[in-house]
Amino acid sequence: MQQEEQFSSLGNLGEFGLIDRLTQDFPLRQASSIKGIGDDAAILEFLSGRTVVSSDMLVEGVHFDLSYMPPQHLGYKAVAVNLSDIYAMNARPTQITVNIAVSNRFGIEYLDKIYEGIRHACEVFEVDLVGGDTTSSYSGLILSITAIGEVEETKVTERSGAKENDLLVVSGDLGGAYMGLQVLEREKTVFQANPSAQPDLSEYTYAVQRQLKPEARKDIPELLEKLGVLPTAMIDLSDGLSSEALHLSKASELGLRLYEEKIPIDPSIYKICEEFKLSATTIALNGGEDYELLFTIPLADHDKIKGNPHFTVIGHMTEKGDTAKLVARDGAEVPLKAQGWNSFEREDEA
Ligand code: ADP
Ligand code: MG
Repeated sequence: MQQEEQFSSLGNLGEFGLIDRLTQDFPLRQASSIKGIGDDAAILEFLSGRTVVSSDMLVEGVHFDLSYMPPQHLGYKAVAVNLSDIYAMNARPTQITVNIAVSNRFGIEYLDKIYEGIRHACEVFEVDLVGGDTTSSYSGLILSITAIGEVEETKVTERSGAKENDLLVVSGDLGGAYMGLQVLEREKTVFQANPSAQPDLSEYTYAVQRQLKPEARKDIPELLEKLGVLPTAMIDLSDGLSSEALHLSKASELGLRLYEEKIPIDPSIYKICEEFKLSATTIALNGGEDYELLFTIPLADHDKIKGNPHFTVIGHMTEKGDTAKLVARDGAEVPLKAQGWNSFEREDEA
């Protein structure tokens, strides 16, 4: 659990001193970044293609809990979840802006650590921090990031592009981030009851890492390009597989079938689900925050991705007018629903 070692009041530095301190050591790497931090606005130049823009806001107590979210991880995660949306457009992220609202409860050193995480993410994903805003808040911490990216006009992957009979493919594995959160919540309760307890999280490393340090799938658009596969539609998994598959189905005006037995779940996540007496399928469908990519490809491209450890074919698109359905292990078809994990019930189990 987090303890703050040092505490220097934000008031001592003043707004401009604080901005200068936080935003130092952010070099510009992208050719499209003409001017970064320091003027009234950043100056960008995109010479061709499409520019994509996406924002996400993280609110303390709603999206994160500082008692188990280290500030470096918070900064990194805030950037990664934004970039995930850019990758979902099959675009390459180029710049971010960071808006932060903080109360006096936070020391400068704490904000330094958040920016350390942001700086690390800028290095990993090769994006430039080109601006932002800093303001005070009476209560919690709010971190809002806008990401900008570029993509060739013919390569943009919108949610609406799926075609009948396209295969539904997902990257990585699902349910880990949600189970990581369950583990952290449980440890927090134990810690509150006995502050000297030293949690042993070694069995839960993968799940906890999926929750605290999600990776935007920078590698997936690159890999697909290399394999010569252009997805017809793509979306990132922030809210859970069910809800995102429904978005694809609705935007593309098609039905779909998603096979329960195909959903990729890591063995360690199965184990934690058993321990928590939760259905791994339910968690993978509704857990959220996995930040994997869900996309559709023409049936003819199946050979190009077949056997690739990064991809799992989990279903296919059906005709216009059909609905989205989960095909259970026993063959029963259940309407796919976007809802919280605890209100999800299979009809045959209800
Ligand atoms: P203004 O008053 O014109 O909005 P600011 O004093 O807020 O300007 O910001 C000065 C510069 O610092 C601008 O380039 C702005 O984009 C940048 N900036 C301010 N806050 C942040 C932040 N939290 N992170 C990154 N850049 C920031
Ligand atoms: Mg400002």
